[in-house]
Amino acid sequence: MENRGIIPAHRIALQHLDRVAIKDSHGSHTYLDVLLKAIKLSNMIKSSIGLEKNQERIGFLCPNDSTYVISQWACWAAGHIAVPLSPVHPPSLLGYYVKDCDAALIIASQSHSQLLNAVQETVGQDIKSVILEESWQQTINQNVTPTQLKSILCDTKPMEFYHNSDAMMLYTSGTTGKPKGVLLSHKNIDAQVRMLIEVWEWSKKDVIVHALPLHHTHGVINALLCPLYVGASCIMLPKFDSKAIWENFLNTNVSQEEKPTLFMGVPTMYSKLLSHYDSTYGETQRKREYVKASISNNFRVMISGSAALPEPVFYKWKAATGIEIVERYGMTEIGSVLSIPLEGERRPGYVGVPSPGVSIRLAEFQSSPLGSKANYQILFETSYDQFSKDYANDKVVGDLLIKGPNVFKCYWNKPEATAKDFTADGWFRTGDSVQFDNGYFKILGRLSADIIKSGGFKISALEIETHLLGHPEIADCTVFGIPDVTWGQKVAAVLVLANPEMSIDLIALKQWCKERMAPYIVPSEWRIYSELPRNALGKVNKVEFAKVAFNNNPGSSKL
Ligand code: AMP
Repeated sequence: MENRGIIPAHRIALQHLDRVAIKDSHGSHTYLDVLLKAIKLSNMIKSSIGLEKNQERIGFLCPNDSTYVISQWACWAAGHIAVPLSPVHPPSLLGYYVKDCDAALIIASQSHSQLLNAVQETVGQDIKSVILEESWQQTINQNVTPTQLKSILCDTKPMEFYHNSDAMMLYTSGTTGKPKGVLLSHKNIDAQVRMLIEVWEWSKKDVIVHALPLHHTHGVINALLCPLYVGASCIMLPKFDSKAIWENFLNTNVSQEEKPTLFMGVPTMYSKLLSHYDSTYGETQRKREYVKASISNNFRVMISGSAALPEPVFYKWKAATGIEIVERYGMTEIGSVLSIPLEGERRPGYVGVPSPGVSIRLAEFQSSPLGSKANYQILFETSYDQFSKDYANDKVVGDLLIKGPNVFKCYWNKPEATAKDFTADGWFRTGDSVQFDNGYFKILGRLSADIIKSGGFKISALEIETHLLGHPEIADCTVFGIPDVTWGQKVAAVLVLANPEMSIDLIALKQWCKERMAPYIVPSEWRIYSELPRNALGKVNKVEFAKVAFNNNPGSSKL
């Protein structure tokens, strides 16, 4: 990777002033428009919390539109740490974040001012706030001379500031305890963004359709900062809506240059888009051919991550659009460290090779006394630079460890949690079990929730889910281990049926499973739900859900 120092997004904007940065329901916003508003807001932040203050945490509650980017850049221009908050979270959770990060100020759009009041109430103290009136959302197309711009920028931090300062805090979903604030420095963000620009060959000609949550690494780093670093355009949709996304994919009312070239989603988004496709475009051959031709002519790449992409979704998407989805793997703490290369084989169920700058170890940990650093044995080690087809014949399973400039600094105010997640020699323990197989990595799942230990076997719940989703009567499913006296854990599955009016024949289902899976991985406990409790990223909190689903809960029925 080219070594060019740390330049945060609002500074890179200077190279693309006339280009459209964001297209949202209020219009098209140029890089200049967003930058000027961001500097105005950064001055408001400084006068509110003090000119001398540095590196304070600033929460912001904005819709998915240009005001989100304005707020993020304003925090950076003023030298503070941006803490994006999701307006769909309840006030109590938002209150927890605000208290935990000790926010000095909250920025909120006018439409979220009531929510802001509710958050203030739960926190029990009046935190300073700035409300962005509706005019902040409008396009203004200001004209400034280069001299005026230079003097406006004089009020912001000098470039050297960003080499050693912190940029953003994103909260983990808290599956195993209270959510933790993942602190990312400007250096971390720079590394995470630049490795993806290289891997996915981003250029200013790109146009991305963005419908991901913006309090999560996928939405902020991959789908927003990547385009903004290269002068590309981002079509920001207010929320995920299958109909609106298809309309953007197939929009004929824009010039060729404005047509989307890129899409990123979590697997459930692809499934929902396919359901909409079936009911809207799938009925006639003419429509099907039209969709396939439009998408495959305009789109350069479509990417999935944040959870395992089921193979049936990969194949259905290919049949509908002609595009083979690129799968990638990442975490809030490290960014996207593994991806199928654009020119490489698109092997469903696999997440490809290391991203530039990333070093990878697969390891086996020995149990060690509480409080001491666990010892581990290295099973396999590689990096982007070393990676080559020489590895074609290795097959190794281990816990995934990561090192590189992309790895986060620490969990905010949680030194013990931070220490626990790093080995004595400085590698980050992802908590995921991974298999290296014939040149590509495959994610077996989270050790805490997806790896089921039954009768001496280590079973990947993700593998079973992928099989089950290939059954024509199953629309959705989740698999996990539940305690069992004989086996340690037994494999349990919760299904959502494709036709909720019908039931499923358990004996036939088990037979179907045995024809496709090793006998010891066929679930022995089954439940039916009408819907799974998935979060905005499409993930089920398995630890919590397992307790509910297998406790004779009225929402479920036993098979
Ligand atoms: P988050 O930090 O919320 O993005 O969650 C990170 C976790 O999501 C990882 O530790 C994995 O367990 C899971 N994950 C991310 N990408 C994938 C993928 N492509 N396949 C399977 N699991 C994934």
